[in-house]
Amino acid sequence: MQNLSVGARGSEWPYGFVPDEELYRSGWRPLPFRQIVLKVHSRCNLACTYCYVYEQADQGWRSQPIVMSGRTVAATAERVARHALGHGLDAMAIVLHGGEPLLAGADLIGDLVTTFRAAVTPNTRINFTLQTNGVLLDERILELSLRHGIGLGVSIDGGAEQHNRRRPRRDGGSSLVGTHAGLERLTSARFRAVFAGLLCVIDLGSDPVEVYESLLAWQPPGVDFLLPHGNWSVRPPGRVADESSTPYADWLITLFERWYTAPEHETDLRLFDEIIAVLLGGSSRVETVGLTPSTVVVVETDGSIEQVDALKSAYHGAASTGLHVDRDDLDAALDHPGIVARQIGAAALGEECARCPIHKVCGGGYYPHRYRPGSGFRNRSVYCPDLVKLIMYIADRIHGDLEPVRRDLGRV
Ligand code: SF4
Repeated sequence: MQNLSVGARGSEWPYGFVPDEELYRSGWRPLPFRQIVLKVHSRCNLACTYCYVYEQADQGWRSQPIVMSGRTVAATAERVARHALGHGLDAMAIVLHGGEPLLAGADLIGDLVTTFRAAVTPNTRINFTLQTNGVLLDERILELSLRHGIGLGVSIDGGAEQHNRRRPRRDGGSSLVGTHAGLERLTSARFRAVFAGLLCVIDLGSDPVEVYESLLAWQPPGVDFLLPHGNWSVRPPGRVADESSTPYADWLITLFERWYTAPEHETDLRLFDEIIAVLLGGSSRVETVGLTPSTVVVVETDGSIEQVDALKSAYHGAASTGLHVDRDDLDAALDHPGIVARQIGAAALGEECARCPIHKVCGGGYYPHRYRPGSGFRNRSVYCPDLVKLIMYIADRIHGDLEPVRRDLGRV
């Protein structure tokens, strides 16, 4: 293996453990990357209290160039095109991310889209999305998104009180006015087609129904509720050591009941949709639920090839691979222990998870939430008590609704 991660902690799983010969003998082969997250800008106009880029263990942003250069965009597009061609991929997803990607400006984003589409062969379709705090969503960006078919996801934490407390501007002022103005434009008839959905980080201090209904007012095609990042070393807010306490499950169960019992389908809610899909025997489309392999890789603003950036919540350098688009193909990252660990499903689980009756649904929890100094990422999730309660609750609810259907079918 070349250029092993500069951030690897040699004695901690997965470093030094995978990939090994036994894995390859078993017939396992890495899956190609399907989603590339591009850090087009490394700074932000907000100062969110829970941000894993600026406020947690990894402070690598300080040494990143502020904006991705045209040269790095071109080199990345070349690597992505080679990867798509080499693996015969008919589609790839490019996620424009930051910091705040709209700080990079409409010209850079337009040039980037053109460069990527020109680099790949006609056999590969490139789907672009961009995740923003919404403050800079002006007509120019929206027209550009419409022209190039860039789906826009907006991060917002509910009503004014929650949002302003946790997502202030860098000068401490309210960001909600700016986010709302951006959402007004995005959800207008002209631009609604590029509205990809809302993303909200759970705050235990807020009322789940109030938050959900405030988001629903924008009629989003989907809402993604995220657990705040944390691990066994730095616990998430309110996730105390007492395992009889399940504050996140309790919050999510209240939300589930509001969503599930609505007289008609109001919006997709990814966490619940995916849990239900796996409970019914399907597979999850996301790594946070079930044992679905991750096919995501990140390219940092300076061109470094990295693992998923939520790992920055674990320790400084946790997302590093030591690879760079100037020197390395994306294929080189497929053998990296941190990437392999997220593609081998149940084989990556620790003993407690492997024995757990719901591990195929839970998947051991989101990989960054499993981190414990000394043993690395082969642990159950720090959210384990919440995950057990939430999954069992949804399973009981679905089972209760399916049972009469099953009985009726038995009579046919
Ligand atoms: S994190 Fe907990 S609930 Fe999830 S698979 Fe592991 S032991 Fe089971």
